[in-house]
Amino acid sequence: MLYVTQPSLPPFDEFTEYLKDIWESKWLTNNGKYHQQLERELATFLNVPYISLFSNGTLALITALQTLRITGEVITTPYSFVATSHALNWNGIKPVFCDIESHTFGLNPQKIEALITPQTTAILPVHVYGFPCQHDALEEIADRYGLKLIYDAAHAFGVNEGNQSILNYGDLSILSFHATKAFNTFEGGAIVCHDLKTKQRIDYLKNFGFADEVTVVGPGINAKMNEFQAALGVLQLKYFQQYIKNRKTVFEVYVDEIESISGVELQKPDDHIAWNYSYAPILIDKTRYGKTRDELYNHLKDKGYYARRYFYPLISEFSTYAGLESSKHLPVAKSISEQVLCLPLYDGLLKEQVQEICQLIKDFSTC
Ligand SMILES: *Cc1c(COP(=O)(O)O)cnc(C)c1O
Repeated sequence: MLYVTQPSLPPFDEFTEYLKDIWESKWLTNNGKYHQQLERELATFLNVPYISLFSNGTLALITALQTLRITGEVITTPYSFVATSHALNWNGIKPVFCDIESHTFGLNPQKIEALITPQTTAILPVHVYGFPCQHDALEEIADRYGLKLIYDAAHAFGVNEGNQSILNYGDLSILSFHATKAFNTFEGGAIVCHDLKTKQRIDYLKNFGFADEVTVVGPGINAKMNEFQAALGVLQLKYFQQYIKNRKTVFEVYVDEIESISGVELQKPDDHIAWNYSYAPILIDKTRYGKTRDELYNHLKDKGYYARRYFYPLISEFSTYAGLESSKHLPVAKSISEQVLCLPLYDGLLKEQVQEICQLIKDFSTC
């Protein structure tokens, strides 16, 4: 079986040097040497002012909402991984689902205003597949209504628009370094913020609220990244550009092969985006292709290729959220979630394997 992704890992021998060092130092967690080094190096590499590391992306999301004291209702997207809404739920905040637009798969700015109520405090969009949201329009609405803007940028590690990191948009951005993401630290995550005072609050909150040995400034949590994760991050960063180059090579094979298949459209961001090639999403038009997305998904699975339906079902369709009024009418998200399939894409996937996947897709069409 060949899966939709495979984690990028550096040579094992290089990691053992770091393990030995951590073992000898006996400093395993709590802002250790590698934690500090990774924060410094990521801030430089990503071109962001401040970054705080987390044990995973979900805890970073939950803590980001606490950082800005978000309450009441938050407008968010149904077209994401379920953690986006769960982070609201864990804070006692009501998610209000807004439909997406079909170009970036992000929140549709034109549909947000109708959902704003006196309880609305923030907007939580997602840069789906690392495609930047319509951030200018989102920011304009947030500013006009005095709402906070927090981006779930779990897919957007290393994505730039012009010479600007898309992690600098909004009040805060959240990253995930889970094994399946473009940059991984086994598990891990981060919050990007714009000023030192906010970073300080984030760092207190992720460590039980401790400001010093005897002072707890708030109801914090334990969401710290440990030294093993941080050391892997330091090592991964040395290889990241190569990983992305390799992913790009694989993606370009898809571009060449899929172009000729009627009813199948490979999705990518606009040309001015320096992308991280994190996903290879296709949309299946069942009339033009002759088969449904699910028929193709099952066919590929039978042949040993495990593509994934990201994102299907919609978050708003899970039982936790299906009863909400805002879950009822999300036609664009619904339609895309029924057409989308993310094809295998990772550093190390061979050209011949991509060609075989594409040949299977071609041969399965009945049109
Ligand atoms: C992966 C992911 C998360 C959760 O990150 P974890 O590090 O797995 O907790 C949140 N949002 C989105 C959009 C994701 O893809």
